[in-house]
Amino acid sequence: MALRTIESLGDLAGKRVIVRCDLNVPLSEGTVTDDGRIRASLPTLNALLHRGAKVIVISHLGRPEGAPDERYSLAPVAQRLSELLGAPVAFSSDTVGPSADDTVDGLESGQVALLENLRFNPGETSKVESERAAFAAQLARYGDSMVSDGFGVVHRKQASVYELAQALPSAAGSLIAGETDVLDRLTESPERPYTVVLGGSKVSDKLGVIAHLLPRVDRLLIGGGMLFTFLKAQGHEVGASLLEEDQLDTVRGYLSEATERGVEIVLPTDVVVAERFAADASWSVQPADAIESGPAGASGLGLDIGPDTARRFAELVASSTTVFWNGPMGVFEFPAFAHGTRAVAEALTQVAGLGVVGGGDSAAAVRALGFGDVDFGHVSTGGGASLEFLEGKKLPGLEVLGWQ
Ligand code: ADP
Ligand code: MG
Repeated sequence: MALRTIESLGDLAGKRVIVRCDLNVPLSEGTVTDDGRIRASLPTLNALLHRGAKVIVISHLGRPEGAPDERYSLAPVAQRLSELLGAPVAFSSDTVGPSADDTVDGLESGQVALLENLRFNPGETSKVESERAAFAAQLARYGDSMVSDGFGVVHRKQASVYELAQALPSAAGSLIAGETDVLDRLTESPERPYTVVLGGSKVSDKLGVIAHLLPRVDRLLIGGGMLFTFLKAQGHEVGASLLEEDQLDTVRGYLSEATERGVEIVLPTDVVVAERFAADASWSVQPADAIESGPAGASGLGLDIGPDTARRFAELVASSTTVFWNGPMGVFEFPAFAHGTRAVAEALTQVAGLGVVGGGDSAAAVRALGFGDVDFGHVSTGGGASLEFLEGKKLPGLEVLGWQ
């Protein structure tokens, strides 16, 4: 079954619609430093305003511990949201208290309010269902219906994501609908050839994704910190590189499953090996099956895929029709070790079909390297949520909106 759409909520003119967004943006000294998530929420908000709704936006920010904490106030977000909408945003200094009551009461058709951080209330993330339901009931007083559009939190059973969607007539916003559509194409009906590129720090974070996607892909390219566990599983030495000894058997299992299924697991043939973990560390390119020591004689650390590998990965990506990429190819935060990540990102922009970037650090990496979201088929706004979707897990925040 598909997600319920905003149309299913009927005529919204003059109605109060609560919109659960993910406005969890980075802040520095009270200003928003990356407004990507605020921008991503605009299409749904504008669509509701266009229908004459009174729009009440709710979100979390950071991880306050169930009580008000000035550092995590959404006030700077209200300011930025107002600039982007080109309209005032009424901000309430509590989430379900007197300020929220007044703010919601004062809203006219076509106006927007933002309530203070949901996580200032212990009920939002409580493990106890009745506590979440009680908080959701307090929120529900402010709405005639609810639109869920915070894709980054749909894997969480939290009051504003799950119980609130049960308490009011609810539907998915266009951000969630778009994300779900793309991720569904990556799992159910990819156009071939289909390539998945995985990197990042730990193979243990990505085991579920490998297991679920291995039967579905044509080739799996492995870079980042996890490549060393694969190399070691094949019997190669990896120096002082990131290694998860306890995953060696699992990785061997994937390698043999891939052979049985005729899926190509493509491992690096060369690696950039540094003498230590630092931006200015000296480094050399070494064959992946013969990583020795750093230039200074110390045990070497692999911090990026090598240039031959980057070229090969780029060719395989650019010639695919569907590509999902999660996890930087190297320690991209250090410019000397960002070349592999850049090469894959560049190739992804050339994919003729659907090229998707998923994962929080991966999205940050492509932005830091100067790419724009429009350069790719899709950049997922949900790190954990998109990975759990691709692991084949049931996401409570989608199921409650009718997704099966
Ligand atoms: P995402 O958030 O996109 O899922 P991850 O959190 O798995 O990605 O991984 C991102 C991190 O992986 C980055 O901070 C990057 O520095 C690190 N990383 C990539 N390659 C290596 C490597 N060879 N050694 C150590 N860390 C690495
Ligand atoms: Mg990460």
